[in-house]
Amino acid sequence: MQFDVIVIGSGPGGYVAAIRCAQLGLKTACIEKYSTFGGTCLNVGCIPSKALLDSSEHYHNAAHTFETHGIKLKDLKVDMSQMIKRKNEVVQKNTAGITFLFKKNKVTSYQGMGSFVDKNTIKITKADGSTETITGTNVIIATGSKPSQLPFLPVDKKRIITSTEALTLTEVPKHMVLIGGGVIGLELGSVYARLGAKVSVIEFMDGIIPTMDKGLGKELQKVLTKLGMEFYLGHKVTGASVKGKEVTVKFDSPKGDKMELKGDYCLVAVGRVAYTDQLGLENIGITVEERGKKITVNDHMETSVKGVYAIGDVVRGAMLAHKAEDEGTMVAELIAGQKPHINYNLIPGVVYTWPEVASVGQTEEQLKEKGVAYKTGSFPFKASGRAVASGDMDGFVKVLADKTTDEILGVHIIGPRAADMIAEAVVAMEYRASAEDISRMSHAHPTYTEAMREACLAATDNRPIHI
Ligand code: FAD
Ligand code: NAD
Repeated sequence: MQFDVIVIGSGPGGYVAAIRCAQLGLKTACIEKYSTFGGTCLNVGCIPSKALLDSSEHYHNAAHTFETHGIKLKDLKVDMSQMIKRKNEVVQKNTAGITFLFKKNKVTSYQGMGSFVDKNTIKITKADGSTETITGTNVIIATGSKPSQLPFLPVDKKRIITSTEALTLTEVPKHMVLIGGGVIGLELGSVYARLGAKVSVIEFMDGIIPTMDKGLGKELQKVLTKLGMEFYLGHKVTGASVKGKEVTVKFDSPKGDKMELKGDYCLVAVGRVAYTDQLGLENIGITVEERGKKITVNDHMETSVKGVYAIGDVVRGAMLAHKAEDEGTMVAELIAGQKPHINYNLIPGVVYTWPEVASVGQTEEQLKEKGVAYKTGSFPFKASGRAVASGDMDGFVKVLADKTTDEILGVHIIGPRAADMIAEAVVAMEYRASAEDISRMSHAHPTYTEAMREACLAATDNRPIHI
């Protein structure tokens, strides 16, 4: 079979690239090594984690906040097998959706491991060992990533686990020791803390979610501490051992004191590395970066080999589903002769804890480092009528604007529905709005988004109405 484009990998980068190529009239194939489409995101990432976050939030609210709303419940219990069953159904619906979209758009799909024979020829090795070869004028590598491991702390997938196993636990842990206070750790840590587990987080840096604006990490830590999570910041993990059902994690305090924690599970969430195993990159002369194993690409996502592109987690930049999707669309349109563009500064980042954390643009730390003169406007949710009504008063919106022009340079939110609220900031910043522009636009009352308007009023000339 001869195609215009062959996409290897069907995660959000690969399936979006394949569908966009097909929409543009290109004869397209997509190869996926797993039995379902959708990659990390749909199978063991974004979607299942959000399903469990939602379920555990319902339980937590039923146990802790329903009574304040005048709702009394008796004999509340967690049915872990039902929670996991529902999560699996959510995953199944989403992955089946990709099969439907491939058919609808006439993308030819192959199940098997794709590897380069040469730059235009891909061998597909199927589960039964049989092989098939297809050729393509262009190839898009969208093979994603896998969890990073610490060399001195091997994952056994039973007691020392990664996010993949943490999404399929059949019991609520008694004590989960979590290595890494980043996005995965805090999202999955929240799930189990809400269900009643003790959760201890050991983080190497001096704050959680260290790549986001510092104010967000500090506020999130306060809220998660209230939830019962404990934090060992600036601590260095040195090893772990398993005896029966018990894991002992050893680590050093910032002063060098030797410490240890015992738990029934240890979740290692210290980042992810690009996945290019068995892809046969050596057959076409592509080498991967030493650290992170990423494939080097130019601004058009083209590798050092003409006609071979790479997108998503397997290349530089944030490991986010929507970034992979944007790159998938961009490459498809480039191949079709269009001139698309991605503004990497405006790719939002979200942590789906409760309250949610969402951010776009520059952080205060980045503006300081670059010597940009900026002003700040903040508005706390405790002053929002909507937040008081729903009982979600933790957090704030912080707007950073250029000191002279008032252009919005960054928006950092921790609060209810921050993940949805950040879209307003992305649109505003894409059109280079000033804080005053947003503060003059009508925001429905009562909504959480009024906090964004108030933070803009505070940034423009310090005149919020409700604080
Ligand atoms: P992937 O989704 O990893 O897909 C790559 C696919 O390629 C896989 O299906 C793999 O089997 C296949 N493949 C690999 N090699 C071959 C080969 N040789 N032949 C055939 N197929 C191959 N991001 C967000 O934006 N929001 C979130 O809420 C979020 N939550 C997450 C939660 C968790 C627990 C995890 C682990 C990740 C989360 N992410 C989230 C990150 C997100 O999942 C990734 O950024 C995204 O999936 C990357 O997409 P991709 O297409 O580059 O790769
Ligand atoms: P991460 O980079 O977000 O966090 C890893 C954390 O581990 C960091 O804070 C780091 O300082 C810490 N760390 C590293 N080595 C350590 C060590 N030896 N001891 C203690 N701490 C250590 O990575 P992650 O949480 O594993 O997530 C992986 C990727 O998946 C991220 O890039 C993220 O973008 C993506 N993801 C996104 C979402 C989302 O968008 N909501 C959710 C989950 C995952």
